[in-house]
Amino acid sequence: MKIVSTIKELKAIREELKGSVGFVPTMGAMHNGHLSLIRQARIQNDTVIVSIFVNPTQFLPNEDYKNYPRREEADLKICTLAGVDILFMPTADEIYTKIEPEILAPKNLSYILEGSSRPGHFDGVLRVVLKLFNLTRPTNAYFGKKDAQQLYLVQNMVKTLFLNVNIVPCDIVRESDGLALSSRNIYMNEKERVQSLSLSIALKNASQAIMKGERDTKKIELIMLESLKDLRVDYAKALSRDFEIKEQITIKDTILLIAAFVGKTRLIDNLWI
Ligand code: AMP
Repeated sequence: MKIVSTIKELKAIREELKGSVGFVPTMGAMHNGHLSLIRQARIQNDTVIVSIFVNPTQFLPNEDYKNYPRREEADLKICTLAGVDILFMPTADEIYTKIEPEILAPKNLSYILEGSSRPGHFDGVLRVVLKLFNLTRPTNAYFGKKDAQQLYLVQNMVKTLFLNVNIVPCDIVRESDGLALSSRNIYMNEKERVQSLSLSIALKNASQAIMKGERDTKKIELIMLESLKDLRVDYAKALSRDFEIKEQITIKDTILLIAAFVGKTRLIDNLWI
C-alpha cells in the first residue's frame, strides 16, 4: 500500500493507473462500516484508493473537529489488511487554499434534517468530495447509506455537474444489538451505549407497523418518537427517498431517518423501506 500525503504525488500516481479505480472517502477512525465499503471497492475495481481526511469545512464552529477521533496507526493496519492500494492522507493546507470558489449544496435539501441543525455542513461535504473526485478520478465511489442525506446530495452533485463517476450506495453495518457503527460511538459511556439502542428500536418498531399496513406518515413518526422518548430528539422523519414530505408513505420509496442525542453524543440512523 502506498501512503500519499501530497496532491503532487497523488496526481503522478493516478496518471499511471490503468483500469477501474474504486474510491472510498473517509474521515478515518475506521470500523467495520468503513471496511465494508473498502471490501466492496476491492471486489469491483482494479485499484482501490482510500482517503482519510478530517475535513474542517464540514464541521460547525461548535462541533468536534478538534476532538474528532484520529487513529492513524489502526487505520493503516485496516487498510493494509483490506488490500487498499493507495491511502491518501492530506493535511488541510494541502486541500484548501485561502482564496477559492465555494461549492454550495442545494438549499432545499441541505437545510433540512442534518442541515437544519448543522447549517453549512453539506457545503463542506460537497466541496471536499468534489476536490477528492477531481484528484482521484474514480470509476466508482463508495458511500454508506448510514449518511443517507449526504449520499443523496453527492448523487445529485454527480448528476447535475455531469461528473463521470458511478456512486455505489453501501448498506449500513450494525453492532449485533442493532446500533449502527459510527466513529463517534466511542464517545458514549456504558449507560449511554444502552440508551443508544433506542434509535434502531425506533426504526424497527416503525417498520413493523408499516409491515402491518400503517401508511400514515404522522403516525409512523409518532411510533419512532415514542421509542425515542428518553432521548433528546433532533428529528424522526418518514420521507420519500428524494427527501420529500408525503402524507402517506410508499413502500420502496421511503426512508425513516432519526437524529438524537445520547448524552452529548449526536447519533444518526435510518432505514430504507
Ligand atoms: P466517515 O468516516 O464517517 O466520513 O464515513 C466514511 C464513509 O463510511 C461514509 O460514506 C459513511 O456513510 C460510511 N459509513 C459510516 N458508518 C457506516 C456504517 N455503519 N455502515 C456503512 N457505512 C458507513
